[in-house]
Amino acid sequence: MAPPTTTPKRAKQRRGEGQWALGYREPLNPNERSKKDDNPLNVRARIETIYAKGGFDSIDPADLRGRFRWFGLYTQRKPGIDGGRTATLEPEELDDEYFMLRIRIDGGAVTTEQLAIIGEISQTYARDTADITDRQNIQYHWIRIEDMPAIWDKLEGAGMTTMEACGDSPRVILGSPVAGIAENEVLDGTPAIDRIKDTYVGDKAFSNLPRKFKTAISGIQDVAHEIHDVAFVGVVHPEHGPGFDVWVGGGLSTNPMIGQRLGAWVPLDEVPDVWAGVISVFRDYGYRRLRHRARIKFLVADWGPEKFREILESKYLGRALVDGPAPKVLDRPVDHIGVYPQKDGKFYVGAAPIAGRVSGSVLVEVAKAAERAGSRRVRFTPQQKLLVLDVPEGDVPGLKAELGKLGLQVDPSPWRRGVMACTGIEFCKLAIVETKARAADLVAALETRLADVQAGIADPVTVHINGCPNSCARIQTADIGLKGQIVTDGDGNQVEGFQVHLGGGLGLDAGFGRKLRGHKVTATELADYVERVVRNYVKQRTEGERFAQ
Ligand code: SF4
Repeated sequence: MAPPTTTPKRAKQRRGEGQWALGYREPLNPNERSKKDDNPLNVRARIETIYAKGGFDSIDPADLRGRFRWFGLYTQRKPGIDGGRTATLEPEELDDEYFMLRIRIDGGAVTTEQLAIIGEISQTYARDTADITDRQNIQYHWIRIEDMPAIWDKLEGAGMTTMEACGDSPRVILGSPVAGIAENEVLDGTPAIDRIKDTYVGDKAFSNLPRKFKTAISGIQDVAHEIHDVAFVGVVHPEHGPGFDVWVGGGLSTNPMIGQRLGAWVPLDEVPDVWAGVISVFRDYGYRRLRHRARIKFLVADWGPEKFREILESKYLGRALVDGPAPKVLDRPVDHIGVYPQKDGKFYVGAAPIAGRVSGSVLVEVAKAAERAGSRRVRFTPQQKLLVLDVPEGDVPGLKAELGKLGLQVDPSPWRRGVMACTGIEFCKLAIVETKARAADLVAALETRLADVQAGIADPVTVHINGCPNSCARIQTADIGLKGQIVTDGDGNQVEGFQVHLGGGLGLDAGFGRKLRGHKVTATELADYVERVVRNYVKQRTEGERFAQ
């Protein structure tokens, strides 16, 4: 009789994925080797004692292009290298001696004192650069390694950190920017965010994950929970009351997947334990052999949510989770731009920079303006915007005017409101095209060209611009998603341009935009193209129909 073939085949597959829980701890690629050689959290001491004194040339390449990320540091792109050469150069040819530095701001929550310090650090050490990212972080550029001890002193003295802002680690936790004040939230997830951050960020038990691990926790559906590695979404259980519905395995990049519900309801005080269980499953069973398969979404796709929940419960939590209902999906996306009442009778004011680009000086002035309006709290949003909380009604008009003078519009056009852009070729070593400046040009062009139709558009038309095939600006979830690449123009020249994805969305319309085959636009034709698409939408839509429908 022929021997059974299934067992050896399965064993081969398991070995091939490099899962720790199945006994395969031998590093299988250079990233795994680097993390095994030295825990990335140890790099902080070397930065302070060696590299900050010795300067850029003293940095070990394994730290420079690997472990530095665990403290929010990436080398930025050398100026002047065009996108057509990105894929052809060695990392050291792309590396500038300056750094991007990311501050993790869990829940996007800062006090006005912290905001002023963020701005002042930028003015002193970062050539006044500051971008609000779509993960509620602040990102600086032009940082010198020599200045990092002083920067950490200032940040940490004000209760902020760059720890695990990047790297194969538990990244910043997205939270509702209106947590605790919104009239319509199921519950406030802030205590869970704080406890996870205080307990597990910087814990060596979770500092060597297969890849990055993104978390969202919100009592309102305003943090793109569908595309997170793990998400806790506010829901009311018919017997147990308010709590969270657990989702796992969402993510974008080159293999976008919508997260899957475990069908479990978790009360607020159990969220940190369940979070620790989920990230432990990922650490132990995640696929470490191939980096492009190392996100939790591939494991969830292979196992399915039932097996994932069973392993989580039996091996990590030691108990069964409570079954729970699905949250009611919001019928419109929420971005909090404008002026809204809080449940305590005050107001919050949401304002739009273009694609998150602000500056240290602007942030310092926002802090002052907020304080003049009686506020002590500011929030960054997952749409690269900012909110000032706790404003008495009588102070709203003055604050709106002050924010407007800073380029932060409270009543923006649908294009300014809906545009997002990643870092792009200005600073990102993976980029193929320019993004932030292009977003600003596009908004200016559309505000002129489409002035006749914009009053009739109730929801922002979302235009997300990426500088490369990664999806830092979430292109697959936009009405119009633009993936940067080199394209051929009408005269046969190779120029900057975009692959177009149309009709993506989250919430009620959750799904990824259709990549239209061969549908590419050059950067110089971008405004023409978007204008054409919007005019067609305006002409053809039925009453109340949104773009993604
Ligand atoms: Fe860089 Fe690409 Fe991410 Fe943009 S999408 S920030 S170009 S890696």
